[in-house]
Amino acid sequence: MYNPKSLKAEEFIDHQEILDTLKYADENKDNLELIDSLLDKAEQLKGLTHREASVLLACEDEERIRRMYDLAEQIKKDFYGNRIVMFAPLYLSNYCVNGCVYCPYHLKNKHICRKKLTQEEIRREVIALQDMGHKRLAIEAGEDPVNNPIEYILESIKTIYSIKHKNGAIRRVNVNIAATTVENYRKLKEAGIGTYILFQETYHKESYEKLHPTGPKHNYAYHTEAMDRAMEGGIDDVGLGVLFGLELYRYEFAGLLMHAEHLEAVHGVGPHTISVPRIKKADDIDPSVFDNGISDEIFAKLCALIRICVPYTGMIISTRESEEVRAKVIRLGVSQISGASRTSVGGYADGGEEENSEQFDVSDHRTLDEVVNWLLRSGYIPSFCTACYRAGRTGDRFMALCKSRQIHNCCQPNALLTLKEYLIDYASDDTKEIGERVIKEELNNIPNEKVRAKCIELLDLIEQGNRDFKF
Ligand code: SAM
Repeated sequence: MYNPKSLKAEEFIDHQEILDTLKYADENKDNLELIDSLLDKAEQLKGLTHREASVLLACEDEERIRRMYDLAEQIKKDFYGNRIVMFAPLYLSNYCVNGCVYCPYHLKNKHICRKKLTQEEIRREVIALQDMGHKRLAIEAGEDPVNNPIEYILESIKTIYSIKHKNGAIRRVNVNIAATTVENYRKLKEAGIGTYILFQETYHKESYEKLHPTGPKHNYAYHTEAMDRAMEGGIDDVGLGVLFGLELYRYEFAGLLMHAEHLEAVHGVGPHTISVPRIKKADDIDPSVFDNGISDEIFAKLCALIRICVPYTGMIISTRESEEVRAKVIRLGVSQISGASRTSVGGYADGGEEENSEQFDVSDHRTLDEVVNWLLRSGYIPSFCTACYRAGRTGDRFMALCKSRQIHNCCQPNALLTLKEYLIDYASDDTKEIGERVIKEELNNIPNEKVRAKCIELLDLIEQGNRDFKF
């Protein structure tokens, strides 16, 4: 029985509720009166339920779809301005005991080069990342209690935070590791992580079990209930995601929103971020064997709908997507992107080319400076901000900030301050020139006069060599 407040996976992601939702969506996909009323509701920034959202996803009326896109763009502007937060993944280890059929780390893959970074190797990776200008990382690891126990992850986080190379620093470490215990989530919280990210892969239980035939990840309930344990362990910023291509996208979309509704119902705070990875080619993995791949068109529609259905949730897009696709979806509501990513273990310091330890092929191969330059030229502010969780603005406090217009007095100056640091310490001449121009223009978009004046003062202090200011 469907119950968003239940702590049981099969009750808050109830299969029958998803089937009924899809039926309701099919029955109403041409009900333009209902669709208009849903778009009116979304315009009030109240978000939409999984049922309402599924009707919009099923709708094929061009005029209404255009309205969805316009609304997504508007909501993005209202809440996130034109800021895009930058991050990079850091692969610590590809040892894995699971059997995920879409992932090259799967246990039976004998030709991938297995590698686990030592603390010294992590230092080299972090220095390479700092030298590009990164301040925010997402650490990634396969699941292997012997090779990658929680102690290894915790020690690695400590190492990452401890490295200060030139003006570099990693100020926020997000963590994408397998579902674990409340006790381990508590340890991660104590280690000072930002967001705990775990992709559901698919919400469809039967498919989930087939796609994860062996290993601890086979347990659908344990995986699906992980965010509740993370929150019980004190982590209040959690990141959801579906690996699009594994199952029918309409099913996944309803499940994803039901998961968000569940977190809101039980913990009073929805997901901090939603990621939208699509399955990619990788060693031993041919994406064409999965028949549920989605077109760029549908992908864009999904991004726009996530934006309008959960307006307070950040949306993340990785280098799995090409420059072209990224350009399209950034407009529609993406708030965070990775840049210059390497998905191989040790890929930043050694180039990662000679060994085959990658998780998937990336589609965007540009350097961080090229991505920053591109964002600036496209009218965005690349932001290296990590202030919120360091200032204790997590969970519902972040949501409250997001809902209030105060976000622009906080995020906008922080974006400009961290961009300024980037320009001085890492940018090419061309990026620097355009970046300085953007900073000048964008100061006008800080609503509060006092905050604006303070920001100008701090920009000056950064110019003089000081670092790490935040609102
Ligand atoms: N091992 C952890 C787990 O099981 O959740 C998390 C880390 S894993 C390195 C990160 C994510 O990469 C997975 O959750 C999956 O969605 C995604 N992934 C795996 N294989 C992929 C592929 N071939 N193409 C695109 N993404 C993939």
